[in-house]
Amino acid sequence: MKIYTAHAASWLWDLIHSLPICHHLPERSRIFGIDLPLCCRCSGIYFFIIAGLVLNHFFRLCDIRRAGRLAFFIALSLVAGAEACAEIAFGIDPGNVVRLFTGAASGFAIGALLSAGISGFRSACNKKTS
Ligand SMILES: [Zn+2]
Repeated sequence: MKIYTAHAASWLWDLIHSLPICHHLPERSRIFGIDLPLCCRCSGIYFFIIAGLVLNHFFRLCDIRRAGRLAFFIALSLVAGAEACAEIAFGIDPGNVVRLFTGAASGFAIGALLSAGISGFRSACNKKTS
């Protein structure tokens, strides 16, 4: 069983590492001595998109009918992009921990926005049919 688990983990690692969704630079894919299949920013984004989708589904943190919350989540979704632009424009290296956190903030907001959009679309469809 242990061999199968290790083989599946290796296969999953290779699959994620081969996807064209990240630059996969080794120096950007290591945090606290742990190698990741994606860079720290992308790891934060993709993992927290799932967290944002699930948490918003249950707790309705982001609602497309509330402009203030919607604006907050849209602004939060831009944090990783703004940090990456600042990194390029000013030639700074904030480190992988900052990249992970800004990616997580953006990913969470993107997931919440997706969830809010899906539930808003679903309720709009229900109004038309009833
Ligand atoms: Zn990446």
